[in-house]
Amino acid sequence: MRSFHRNPEGELLRPGSDQKGYLLVGLCRDGRVHRRLVHRLVLFAFVGPPPDGHQATHLDGDRTNNDLSNLKWVDPAEWAPQVACRRGHAFTPENTITRSNGARKCRTCQRDRRREWRDRRRRAASSEGGGRD
Ligand SMILES: [Zn+2]
Repeated sequence: MRSFHRNPEGELLRPGSDQKGYLLVGLCRDGRVHRRLVHRLVLFAFVGPPPDGHQATHLDGDRTNNDLSNLKWVDPAEWAPQVACRRGHAFTPENTITRSNGARKCRTCQRDRRREWRDRRRRAASSEGGGRD
């Protein structure tokens, strides 16, 4: 994102993303714009500054998922890419869906979610039908 939108009312700056897909916001101070990575701001605000040499990482690999539960300061020397999803399914090539932004999704979890959603809809539909069995 090259040009930030300048609002005549103030300094409302539009969030954008950098070339790597990380989300950025522009903060204005003393008439100068400082671009900041959103995930780092979240960690600074809720966790505090990083311990020496630590870097911010997205636990699920999705650079646009800046939920605090998905963010962590990690020591790059110790940090290895996640080998399993949050529910423990291994990220094997067959079980991994990789998005264009680098995020990895677990196929097993996605299938489970779809099945739950379908079951819920079916239950909702049958209860609407006046309870006939
Ligand atoms: Zn999974």
